[in-house]
Amino acid sequence: MVSKETCSHRIFRDFSPQHCSKKVVDGTVFCKIHNPEYIKEKSRKSREAWDAKWQAEKSSRTLADAAVNGCKAMNPGNPLAVAQNIKGMVTALTAIASCGGNYPGDVVDIAKQALAKVMGEVKE
Ligand SMILES: [Zn+2]
Repeated sequence: MVSKETCSHRIFRDFSPQHCSKKVVDGTVFCKIHNPEYIKEKSRKSREAWDAKWQAEKSSRTLADAAVNGCKAMNPGNPLAVAQNIKGMVTALTAIASCGGNYPGDVVDIAKQALAKVMGEVKE
């Protein structure tokens, strides 16, 4: 027998269906956790959290793939060497770009363009 004060949701306990024994929330026939609106809201929040987590993961994978592919394009035999020496390459480009008189003009221009791309000043 289900009283008006206990939840009308059916649960399985001891291998048999029974009514939930929790008290109803005012204005409904369900307790808090079996209220369809509560379940819908909880599901929506869970889905939003999952979507946000997945978007972050997807962005991370895209960035990692682009970085690895760039390193592989420069040195297919040892892409890790490229990644480990990027800072040194930027330092060399900065030195070339800043003392233009010692290098041919096109070399200085290439160094300046590469630095601008590295610093995000020019989109590819
Ligand atoms: Zn309940």
